[in-house]
Amino acid sequence: MKECNQCGKCCTKFGGGSLAVTTEEIALWEIFRPDIFKYVHDGKIWADPESKNTLERCPWMRRAPDQEKYFCDIYLDRPDDCKFYPVTIKQMIDDECEMLEVKDLKNPKRAQDVLNQIMSDSRPPYELE
Ligand code: SF4
Ligand code: SF4
Repeated sequence: MKECNQCGKCCTKFGGGSLAVTTEEIALWEIFRPDIFKYVHDGKIWADPESKNTLERCPWMRRAPDQEKYFCDIYLDRPDDCKFYPVTIKQMIDDECEMLEVKDLKNPKRAQDVLNQIMSDSRPPYELE
């Protein structure tokens, strides 16, 4: 398992209207981050502040200058759904996450343990059944 290389595939796939968000997160943005809150509409993210239409791409995704590398413009205040990713090895395979190595595919149980360790500051461990 490699470290995240910021390839941006996950944000590209999920940032356009597929992210979950809680009422608690929305309430905090409303008070402390009105700039983020204006992209919420009807309890969902992310919506165009004027038209209220769901955006096709996350408005906080930025590309590093002269690099195929992406970063999040609201990193510390991003949704938990983003903070928790990736959760499972299966999800990483489906999303073609570039953290995966061949040895992870050969031993998914061990790979899940390593992933849980990498993500231990962000989310509880996920146990493979
Ligand atoms: S909010 Fe940040 S981490 Fe989440 S999809 Fe957008 S750019 Fe990615
Ligand atoms: S798909 Fe994987 S390697 Fe690429 S940015 Fe997301 S977590 Fe990082």
